[in-house]
Amino acid sequence: MTPALNSASRLMLIAPHPDDEALACSIILQQAVRAGATIRVVYATDGDDNPWPQRVLERKWRLNAADRKRWGKLRRAEALAALRALGVRASDARFLALPDQGLTNLLKCDCRSTLERFAAIIRDWPPTHLLVPSIADTHPDHSALAVMLRLVLAELPGSQMSVWSYAVHGESPAFSARAQQHRQLEAETAIKLRAIRCHKTQIKLSRRRFLAYAARPERLLKLRARETTIADGSIRSISRQPHTLRLDLRLSVKPIRAAEPTLYLLSRDVEEALRCLSVQLPVRSCRIELRDAATERRVGVARYRGNAFAGELTIPIDIFSSAPALFVKLERRSWFFDEAGWLEIPAAIHPRQIISSNIAQPSLAIR
Ligand SMILES: [Zn+2]
Repeated sequence: MTPALNSASRLMLIAPHPDDEALACSIILQQAVRAGATIRVVYATDGDDNPWPQRVLERKWRLNAADRKRWGKLRRAEALAALRALGVRASDARFLALPDQGLTNLLKCDCRSTLERFAAIIRDWPPTHLLVPSIADTHPDHSALAVMLRLVLAELPGSQMSVWSYAVHGESPAFSARAQQHRQLEAETAIKLRAIRCHKTQIKLSRRRFLAYAARPERLLKLRARETTIADGSIRSISRQPHTLRLDLRLSVKPIRAAEPTLYLLSRDVEEALRCLSVQLPVRSCRIELRDAATERRVGVARYRGNAFAGELTIPIDIFSSAPALFVKLERRSWFFDEAGWLEIPAAIHPRQIISSNIAQPSLAIR
C-alpha cells in the first residue's frame, strides 16, 4: 500500500536536511504534483554543519559560525532548486534552522519548544498525508526527528491524516521488512536524478553514493497509532513489564572502537514531562547507575548480567508514566552514523510479551 493522492490531498514532507527530499521522496513528490495535490515541505535543519564538503569546496580548514551560516544558505538554495526540478514551488518550502547534527541532543535534553513548533506547523497546515523520517534510519538526526514527530502526533487529537515514514540511511530490517516499494516510472527516475544533481555541495565528495539513490526504489512505511516493535541493531529483544524494561543485547564487534555504548530511554514521566535516562553499558555483570541525560543526576540503578559482547539489561521504569510509548536507543556511533535508530515500545498491554526481531542476524558479525 502506498499513498493515494488526488487534487484534494495535502501532502506535507518533513525532512531533516536539504537533500532528503530528493534522495527519498522525489517520486512521491512528482506524483503529488501530477495529481494536483497541495504540497508543503518543511526542512528541520539547513544542513549547515557539514564540514568536509565545505572545507574541500571552500579550501578552508577552520570553519566559524559565519562560514556555517553561509553554507546553510547555499544548501537552502540547492533544496529549492531540487524542489523546482520536481515541480514544487519555492513558496511551498519552510526552513526551521534547527541544529544540524544536533537533533539527538535536542531530543535528549529539552525539545519542548521544538515539539510545540512542529505541532503548530501541522495544526496550521493540516495535511491529509504526512511524510516523516524513519525511526530506524541510521543518521542520528533522522531517527531523533522521527521520535520528536511521534511525540507530536501522539498529542494531536482526532487527526485523520495518514502518516508514512521513509528511510534514507542504513538497511534496517525494522523498516525494510515492512515498507512498501513505490511504483516508479523511468521518466520519474530521470527527474529524480536531476533533483539530486541540484545538491552540488553534497555530490562533490559523494558523487557515486548520491547518484545511486536515483535508481534505488523509494519505500514508504505506513505508521499506526500503536506500533509493533521490531528489534534492531544490538538490541535482540525487549520486554516491557509494569515496573521494568528488560533488554537482550548482542553487540557486534566493530572494526573501529567506537565510544562506550550508551543506552537511552525516553518517554513522559508521571507529570507528563519528557524525560530521557541513560545507562552506560558495562563489560561485566554489575549494577549500574541510571542517569538523567539532561542533568546527569543519578535517578536509579539498572542491572546488567553478561559481558562486553552479550547480556541482559534490566532497567526500572517507574519514573515513566505507563500509558505512552517508550523510546529506546543503544548509541554506538561510528563516524556520522549510528548502528541503529530508536525503537518504539508501546505501553504494555501484555506485560510479559517478549518482542523479538523476526529477521535472523549473525550475532557477532564484524561490520
Ligand atoms: Zn538527511
